[in-house]
Amino acid sequence: MQLFSIFGNPVAHSRSPLMHNSVFKHLNYKACYTRTLLEDSTKLKETFFKLKLSGANVTVPHKEAAFRACDEVRGFAKKIGVVNTLINENGKLIGYNTDADGFLFAIGEFKNIKNILIIGAGGTAKALAIRFLEENINVSVLNRSTKRLAYFKKFGCKTSSWDDFKIASYDLVVNTTSAGLEDNSLPAPKELLEEILNNTRYAADAIYGKVTPFLQLASKHKLTYKDGADMLLGQGVLANKLFTNNTLKTEQIKLYMRKSFEL
Ligand code: NDP
Repeated sequence: MQLFSIFGNPVAHSRSPLMHNSVFKHLNYKACYTRTLLEDSTKLKETFFKLKLSGANVTVPHKEAAFRACDEVRGFAKKIGVVNTLINENGKLIGYNTDADGFLFAIGEFKNIKNILIIGAGGTAKALAIRFLEENINVSVLNRSTKRLAYFKKFGCKTSSWDDFKIASYDLVVNTTSAGLEDNSLPAPKELLEEILNNTRYAADAIYGKVTPFLQLASKHKLTYKDGADMLLGQGVLANKLFTNNTLKTEQIKLYMRKSFEL
């Protein structure tokens, strides 16, 4: 029996255990997926091996620490320095990132996306920004503080904090902050968001399972919007393929993960 887990703080809200266990159960894959509340990022690797895990997902706020904890990082995660999926490969910790491709899957129905504004500058923002740039999409990043913006500037994103933000026209605005996850706060001052939402066609939130204050505002502005459920599905399918070493069919993983959304 293989054991998997998700590390986060908070982690109680995570639907990853339901999603992966639904796949394992229906496809007779001998594995179980739990959740682990991790307060200290520096204990990630130690805890992973103490729990004898075969693999794990990492969520807020440990994704950048997960990158540092890995013995080897592969693919897109290496480019962005952010890891959301861990694999135990013969006692070595291998890191991947499945968030960005999960999000691209999620916004497939939004057409003609050329200019994106990302609100937030954490691990998820990095993954999305760099992936969008790869698709030749113009990326602007707005964060409440300036410290993390240098990273995005280096890659050619237009960056600003709340104080020096200047409005432009966007096709899509994405909230990647944790504002609204456990509280009812907006990811930026309301007047700023109103101005932004008046100048975009679509809105999306990485948070799932609720209509966040940000999405409520988008709804008031009559925008087409979506929460993070499809992103969750997209990143989960890709993570599950890594966990099961490509032995399960993508369509079947997707089917049983979607089924778990009804629980
Ligand atoms: P990080 O902790 O790496 O980054 C959080 C960012 O949010 C930082 O830029 C921080 O700003 C900003 N922030 C935090 N609180 C507030 C607030 N109250 N107001 C404004 N800005 C705020 O988090 P992650 O990138 O890992 O995750 C972000 C969110 O995305 C989480 O809610 C997570 O659940 C969700 N998520 C969903 C996924 C899905 O599959 N649907 C996948 C991945 C993430 P500062 O730099 O100033 O501290």
